[in-house]
Amino acid sequence: NLSDKLDKALHVLKGHGQITEINVAETTKEVRRALLDADVNFKIAKEFTNRVKEKALGQNVLTTLQPGQLMVKIVKDELTQLMGGESEGINLSGNPSVILMTGLQGSGKTTFSGKLANFLKTKKSKKPLLVACDVYRPAAIDQLHVVGDQIGVPVYSDRENNDPVAIAQAGIAKAKAEGYNVVIIDTAGRLAVDEKMMAEISDIHKGIQPQETLFVVDSMTGQDAVNTAKAFNDILNFDGVILTKLDGDTRGGAAISIKSVVDKPIKFIGTGEKMEAIDVFYPSRMADRILGMGDVISLVERAQEQFDEEEARKIQKKIAKNKFGFDDFLSQIQQIKKMGNMKDLMGMIPGAGKALKGLDIDDDAFKHIEAIIYSMTPEERSTPSKLDASRKKRIAKGAGREVQEINQLLKQFDQMSKMMKMMQGGGGKKMMQMMGA
Ligand code: GDP
Ligand code: MG
Repeated sequence: NLSDKLDKALHVLKGHGQITEINVAETTKEVRRALLDADVNFKIAKEFTNRVKEKALGQNVLTTLQPGQLMVKIVKDELTQLMGGESEGINLSGNPSVILMTGLQGSGKTTFSGKLANFLKTKKSKKPLLVACDVYRPAAIDQLHVVGDQIGVPVYSDRENNDPVAIAQAGIAKAKAEGYNVVIIDTAGRLAVDEKMMAEISDIHKGIQPQETLFVVDSMTGQDAVNTAKAFNDILNFDGVILTKLDGDTRGGAAISIKSVVDKPIKFIGTGEKMEAIDVFYPSRMADRILGMGDVISLVERAQEQFDEEEARKIQKKIAKNKFGFDDFLSQIQQIKKMGNMKDLMGMIPGAGKALKGLDIDDDAFKHIEAIIYSMTPEERSTPSKLDASRKKRIAKGAGREVQEINQLLKQFDQMSKMMKMMQGGGGKKMMQMMGA
């Protein structure tokens, strides 16, 4: 699904601390592909990723400490905006408030009529009346009665009448007479957009002038959903969209495209067949869901936990006292290795990349470094300045390495201690926090 795909796209950024312009471009390309795969309209996907790219470069993602997270945030914010920003309620100002349900056959109109009636009754203390205007199939009227019985909401129907406009009007009259303050009109849909259906829904719309015309769409229908939404909106200029069947293998793409194409808010979502499976649509929650933010965040948290807090505190003290030695160097490297690629990690620290250029530690090199450090006396480890030529020779022999490598390690150690000191200042505070200090 879209969430997985975006996750994969953003993986590039999670793995690599440092974001370059090239990899912002690469990542947004991946995001675009993910959106397209989820049936988001091509033009929308392109505009979207262009905006993300612009923002990412504008907000200095390149120099930030955790570029992956900032990038995810930018993508999330943009997605939220794209789906409408704030959540919008429905207009209940009429007396009674008339709500007209529209959409294709099978989109979930009848089910949602019941869900909405139940929601307004239980959550908003309204007194709703359901009206059955699907006159083509007797079963459709039965279905609405079953739903009404389930939630304890009366249903107005007239099996003798085959004029949906007249039935709708009679339903509203009944509501007025009997004190119902919300009327929900369930209508007939067809399998695809056709003139007859459009003419009928347009007649009902004109005949009752509802406060709220809702377009119900099956979120699994992908790109088709967008075309259908456009066709209904052209005729009805509807007030909001209901996205149903978001419980299955979700194609979040519909939510993104419909809002951009018809510029109408998504108001509710359906998440199952039961009457309780209705939720107010919150753009930011939907964006979270699409992005699988929880995963990204927990990934970062896990990485941070792997730094042993106790160890970090000890080392910090030593750095402060200028007593950072080879033992600390070793444990520091061991800590960092637990988190994965050291170069990537260090790349997250602004300015540290340069100091660490020579410190490319692969597994083998790491074993050699360990061997060298273990060949030192405790005194040599804590006071590396003591390492003269003859000591170096002895250590090299003990570790089975060349003296040249000892020199190289000393140089790296020097760079590392310098960096550690540097990080005691302002720029490194975040790094120390990350180490749990
Ligand atoms: P209508 O033709 O537009 O009135 O659609 P219905 O309300 O009859 O729904 C068509 C089918 O979709 C029925 O089997 C419903 O149970 C099912 N359905 C409706 N809404 C949802 C939903 O949010 N999730 C799931 N899983 N099924 C739904
Ligand atoms: Mg129906």
